[in-house]
Amino acid sequence: MSDIIQLLPDSVANQIAAGEVVQRPASAVKELMENALDAGSTSIKLIIKDAGKTLIQIIDNGCGMSETDARMSFERHATSKIRKADDLFAIRTMGFRGEALASIAAIAQVELKTKRIGDDIGVKIDIEGSELKSQEACSCPEGTSISVKNLFYNVPARRNFLKTDAVELRHIIDEFQRVAIPNPQVAFSLHHNNTEIFNLPIGNLKQRLMAIFGSSYNNRLVPVEENTNIVNIKGYIIKPDFAKKTRGEQFFFLNKRFIKSAYLHHAVQSAFEQLLPNDSYASYFLMLDVDPKSIDINIHPTKTEVKFEDEKAIYAFLRSTIKKSLGQFNISPSIDFNQEAHLYNMPLKPVDGIYKQPTITVDPNYNPFKTESSPSIKPSERELSNRENWEKMYSRHADNQLEFEIKKEDDNQQTINTDWDNELHESNLKSSYQLHNKYILTHIKTGFMVIDQQGAHERILYEHILDAFEKHKSSTQQELFPKTIEFNPVDFALVKELETDIKAMGFDISEFGKNTFIIHGIPADTADSDSVALLEGLIENYKQNMIELKSNKRENLARSMARNLSIKSGKNLTQEEMNNLIDELFACKMPYSAPNGKPTITSFSSDDLDKRFKK
Ligand code: ADP
Ligand code: MG
Repeated sequence: MSDIIQLLPDSVANQIAAGEVVQRPASAVKELMENALDAGSTSIKLIIKDAGKTLIQIIDNGCGMSETDARMSFERHATSKIRKADDLFAIRTMGFRGEALASIAAIAQVELKTKRIGDDIGVKIDIEGSELKSQEACSCPEGTSISVKNLFYNVPARRNFLKTDAVELRHIIDEFQRVAIPNPQVAFSLHHNNTEIFNLPIGNLKQRLMAIFGSSYNNRLVPVEENTNIVNIKGYIIKPDFAKKTRGEQFFFLNKRFIKSAYLHHAVQSAFEQLLPNDSYASYFLMLDVDPKSIDINIHPTKTEVKFEDEKAIYAFLRSTIKKSLGQFNISPSIDFNQEAHLYNMPLKPVDGIYKQPTITVDPNYNPFKTESSPSIKPSERELSNRENWEKMYSRHADNQLEFEIKKEDDNQQTINTDWDNELHESNLKSSYQLHNKYILTHIKTGFMVIDQQGAHERILYEHILDAFEKHKSSTQQELFPKTIEFNPVDFALVKELETDIKAMGFDISEFGKNTFIIHGIPADTADSDSVALLEGLIENYKQNMIELKSNKRENLARSMARNLSIKSGKNLTQEEMNNLIDELFACKMPYSAPNGKPTITSFSSDDLDKRFKK
């Protein structure tokens, strides 16, 4: 038999490498921006079409390349940044593996134009799927322009795997920010489909952060600076009063390279200790500088994790530095820890324990945001559906099994079974019991049922809000004193995109100059809440959901608002509130899971208990 092992052709090897280096348009953006930085540019322009699926172009004013280097740059393991193994331990540049351009050129149509400073003439190279299509002299400005067109055009599986434009653009913006924040000495701009999203002039770190996140950051940022012989720390933390319920902004840069570190995050979070409400996260922008010899960056090309030599020492130092900054700037606990619980006050509709004969009257004043008890709201369609639900539960007793579907995040329908004998006893509802301010325990005929209070309330609100969308019946409470709210440029664009739907929820908002909206009114009966916090929370949750799922706008808005307004774990509930919650939950179309797909209810039969007690 003949030998069978062969070397892979370069184009195939490059495509395989590309799978590692370029997962999505944002990975190409990262690599190309880093190259532009390494070239010593002072101005870097990023132009994107269709979230990078059609075009990613980076124009820099860096050192440029000679004709030979331009051709070489697309070869695998071709780099100008290291020459010998020793160099690996002193790396200060962003790249050094020489893989990025070769990988990108393997899976896209790439046009490179480059001219060295002082040269008369530049060079233009076209490469498609690793194949050189043309190379010619060209007149172009000093520096480099790389256009990456139709990424993954020859890897349809990869292309189909890409998420919606909104999600891919979010990833690109993340990468853009990760490069732009630690390099305020370089001007950056980002254009997407002909709209300018960022225009960041040269400045200092604080100016850079304000240009990205909005000028309101001016009085939110607290400086941090401390030097030792193992690490220098410099940057800003956000005052605890402005902490976000969603993860907010957390940026570590190690030698100007963005890194993720759960360990170091913990150090910062713990420095904030008593200053943050339970469910909030510290936000920070911290530059750590260490000797390159003490870290291992020779890791997976796209990984953002790093190994430190002195991890423990850095942890301790970071924590004490943050504490010191918080102390120095006199930031003491000044937060109302229960604030968020007031956002949407229980009680829900009162239950007297006895179900009245349903009457079918559609209440024209029905307000989806109103769950508070009010004598003016008579038992209506909701009570009817509630009743039906109960009856359904009774009737399923025969099967002994209740099946229901949970909508999973990935949209796969997953069926899960509950096997409780599902008789909720009306009379038993009076004796619900709250566990750890988090769960509600209540009797069912065959045992007991445990309800997750936050998930349950989210479900209730979610259905109310969706229903209101459908029936166009949101109403607005006008604000006595309209408030303005400034967003960062990205969020501003998002609010504009969602404006119609946000208004359909009952918000009365209008544009008010650069990156700013004015809030004239908010959904009726959220009227006690702070309008700015309400809208801000809605957008924060929306962004979070946007990354996690592909739901449509209204569904996401409803989810985000429900999360925003729901009673939280940790809130103490009265007997009446618990009963109302249970009642409202079973009036829902889909009481068994929260909008995020997690279960709201679980049950235990007395048989289970008997077994445990070996009866
Ligand atoms: P690496 O960055 O790891 O060296 P790349 O494949 O990203 O590998 O780039 C290969 C080489 O091409 C770089 O080492 C650099 O010499 C050159 N290069 C790439 N982009 C630019 C640019 N924008 N300006 C100047 N030179 C560049
Ligand atoms: Mg590179």
